[in-house]
Amino acid sequence: MTRTVKSIDLKAAWAAQADELSQAAHAVLEGGWYILGPRVEQFEAAFADWCGGGEAVGVANGTDAIVIALEALGIGAGDAVLSVSHTAVATIAAIEMSGATPVFVDIDPRTFTMSPARLAETLEGWSRRDDAKGLTPRAVLPVHLYGQPADMAKISEIARAHGLRIIEDCAQAHGAKIGGRCVGQFGDAATFSFYPTKNLGAFGDGGAVLSRTPGLCGRMRQLREYGWRERYVSGRRGRNSRLDELQAALLSVRLGRLSGENRTRIALARRYDAALRGLAGKGLAAPVPVPGHTHVYHQYVIRSAGRDRLKAELAKHGVNCLIHYPVPVHRQPAYADGPLHGAGGLAHTERAAGEVLSLPLHPWLAEEDVDYVADLLVRFCQGDP
Ligand SMILES: *Cc1c(COP(=O)(O)O)cnc(C)c1O
Repeated sequence: MTRTVKSIDLKAAWAAQADELSQAAHAVLEGGWYILGPRVEQFEAAFADWCGGGEAVGVANGTDAIVIALEALGIGAGDAVLSVSHTAVATIAAIEMSGATPVFVDIDPRTFTMSPARLAETLEGWSRRDDAKGLTPRAVLPVHLYGQPADMAKISEIARAHGLRIIEDCAQAHGAKIGGRCVGQFGDAATFSFYPTKNLGAFGDGGAVLSRTPGLCGRMRQLREYGWRERYVSGRRGRNSRLDELQAALLSVRLGRLSGENRTRIALARRYDAALRGLAGKGLAAPVPVPGHTHVYHQYVIRSAGRDRLKAELAKHGVNCLIHYPVPVHRQPAYADGPLHGAGGLAHTERAAGEVLSLPLHPWLAEEDVDYVADLLVRFCQGDP
């Protein structure tokens, strides 16, 4: 019997809270205030609180959040920002929009996040390279990819030793924790996306920057609205990147369930873990837990040398899997002009792109669907069609 297992189910997010969401939307539409108003303020306060403190600034999307964080920290042309190539292209597009130059540091193949060792080597060898002349390393921008926290203890230590700012890309990791503290609390600023498929998703675009750095949020509030210091007076050169009242009101409703939804994701991931445990020796690797880290499984990503065959086989049985990401950013046509690589090259990044597969996992997925997918994987690994 074939069933259909979707990789994500956005209608279910609506259905789970349809009454509350409708009421919230209706109140905004009737209220006559649509952009940057009281609902945005309420959501900013509630979200910062949920993340464990600091101040949140709502913006139009997660890409702008990165641009605005970099600009507020004074990072731009002539500056190098060290990040990763195994990420959403948005991370890198944002660095370039700020005027800064991205440098691709390889990943740790177990966690798919920035390798601290490679970061350190890159910074230590900086003055000896010819291709980075005229560029000053100013910031490190690790990505908590798939919901898995990057190694912030080591990355922070290296950043401090080299005088770099830290911006965490938390677009996939709302509520992921290191030693009980939420990601977003480990750098100068942290950026979030509320794109509908993220762990906290709006019903349209949205984003936020979180920071505890004094003065930074005020600057970001100006940057998101024409650089206005007060109405019609631009104290700096800004842009338009505002969160609207409708999305903020809907996000406040969704935020009420985020902790529970993350717990459901983790429970479903544990179910996959248990079913896939025996397959490590058969060429299929499940996500590796990191002691002290709480992974919130924005994606449940396995790796397999036979990834493309495996994906086709699952599709044949009604299981829709996505690949995050099939082409690393430095291999994208738009980046064919030879971007800067970190020390040691990008071998782990390139290998991951050919092997990763995101299994269906979202808070509305049934346990039976997990069992069905896991069973197909077990049969595939045993060579049993
Ligand atoms: C989604 C995402 C972004 C960009 O967010 P948008 O809201 O789509 O602009 C940035 N970084 C990562 C890692 C993402 O997953």
